[in-house]
Amino acid sequence: MVLIQVCKLHVPWIYTFNHVCECGKKTLLARPPKYVPDDVYREYRRKEKEEDRINSGILQPM
Ligand SMILES: [Zn+2]
Repeated sequence: MVLIQVCKLHVPWIYTFNHVCECGKKTLLARPPKYVPDDVYREYRRKEKEEDRINSGILQPM
C-alpha cells in the first residue's frame, strides 16, 4: 500500500508519494485519505495499471 504524503508549506498543499517534497522539506503523512484530491489517486491508479501491463509483458518498461 502506498501512503500519500503532504507538504503544507504550499497553497494549496502539495500531495505526493515521496517522503521529501519538491521544496526539499520532509513531507507529512496525509490523512484522512478523503482529503486527498482525486487527481492524486487517479495518477496512482494510472501508474498501477501501467505496472500491471509491464508485469504482463504488454508494455515495455521505459
Ligand atoms: Zn513543499
